[in-house]
Amino acid sequence: MPLARRLAEGVAALEDEGLRRRRRVLSAGTAARVVEGGRELVNFSGNDYLGLSRHPALAAAAHAAIDRDGTGAAASPLVTGHLEAHERAEQAFARFARFPRALLFASGYAANLGILAALADREAHVFGDRLNHACLVDGARLSRAEFTRYPHNDVDALAGALQASTAAVKVVATDAVFSMDGDVAPLAAMLALCERHDAWLLVDDAHGIGVMGPHGRGTLASLGLASERLILMATLGKALGGYGAFVAAAEPVIEWLVQRARTYVFSTALPPSVAATAEAAIRLLEKDDAPVRALRQRIGQWQARMRETGLAAPSDTGIQPILVGEASRAVAWSQALQARGFLVAAIRPPTVPKGTSRLRVALSAAHSAADVDALVDALRETRPA
Ligand SMILES: *Cc1c(COP(=O)(O)O)cnc(C)c1O
Repeated sequence: MPLARRLAEGVAALEDEGLRRRRRVLSAGTAARVVEGGRELVNFSGNDYLGLSRHPALAAAAHAAIDRDGTGAAASPLVTGHLEAHERAEQAFARFARFPRALLFASGYAANLGILAALADREAHVFGDRLNHACLVDGARLSRAEFTRYPHNDVDALAGALQASTAAVKVVATDAVFSMDGDVAPLAAMLALCERHDAWLLVDDAHGIGVMGPHGRGTLASLGLASERLILMATLGKALGGYGAFVAAAEPVIEWLVQRARTYVFSTALPPSVAATAEAAIRLLEKDDAPVRALRQRIGQWQARMRETGLAAPSDTGIQPILVGEASRAVAWSQALQARGFLVAAIRPPTVPKGTSRLRVALSAAHSAADVDALVDALRETRPA
C-alpha cells in the first residue's frame, strides 16, 4: 500500500470510531470567552485558571522585553541564549516555589522528556502513575530505563514495585493534579516511600501551580512538602498565562540538568519576552493572591451548584470532570452545550481510557459567578437521559 494511503486509511478509521479530532479556529475574546465564526462562546475548556493570559502587567513585561532584548534568544542557553531575563525569571521562580534553584525549559513537554532522560539511564528504574500525562510516559521511554506503571494513585502498589527493584537509581514520576480527573496524587505518602527507597520524586504540577496552595505556590506548598529528593515541574502555559516551564529542585539536580538534559542543552532558549512574562506572573502572584482566591470562590460555587443539581463535583481543583462513558454521548452533550453558548470539551480516547469519555470543565478566575451558574443550568437542561 502506498505510504500516504496508509495514513489516509488511519484517519478514516479514526473517523469511523468517532475519534477523529479537528481543530477549531478561534479568536480570543477575553480570558473567559472565545469567538468562533463571529459567535462568542463562554470558554470552559482552556487552562487559563487565573485569567493571566490577558493580564496587562504580563503584556507590558513582554512588550518591554521585546523592545529591550528583541524577539528571539537566537542561541541555546549554554552558548549565548541565556539572557538576564531568563536568569531573573529562574531566580523569581525558585524563591516563589521555595526551592534552591530553578531552570527554564521550552515547555512542560520538553522539561519532562529532558528531566527523565537525564536522571534515568539504562540501569535506572522509572515508576509512573498509569494516568500520568503523555510527556512523563514518553520521558520514561526515552530514558530507556526499566519502566513500571502502577495503578492510579496506588501507594501500596508503588511500595511493592520500589521494594522489588534492585536498580541503583529510582525515579518516581507523577502528575500532582491529574489533568483529566482533577484529583491530587498522595504526595506525602509517595515522598515518604521515596525517602525509604532512596528514589527521586518528580512532581508534574502543570495544573497545580498558580491554583493550589497559598498564593498559588503549587501542590507541594499546599501540602507543606519539601525535600532534596523532590523535583518540581511547573508549566507556564496554564495558570501562569504564558509559555515554557520551570523545573525546580536542589542545586545538584539543576546543575546536572544544565549539563545533561538534552531538551535544554540542544534547543534555542525561550524568547526573552516569554521569560519576562513568566517573571511578571510570579511577581504578581507573590504580591497579590486575589486571582487565586477568585478561582477558589468559583470552585466552591461550582461544587455547591453541581451537588444541588444532583451531579457529582469530586474535584477541589480547577479541573472538573463529568463522566459520560461512550465517546459519542460525550460529544453530543458537548455539542448541546455549544448550542447554548458554552465551550466545554468532550475528552475521548486516546486522551482517556476507553469507556471513560467525559466532559471536562475548566474553571477560571476570569469566569463570573453568573457564567458558572449559567453553565450548571445548561448542564442540567441538556443532560443525556
Ligand atoms: C499541559 C501539561 C504538560 C505539558 O506542558 P506544556 O508546557 O504545555 O508542554 C505536562 N504535564 C501535564 C500534566 C500537563 O497537563
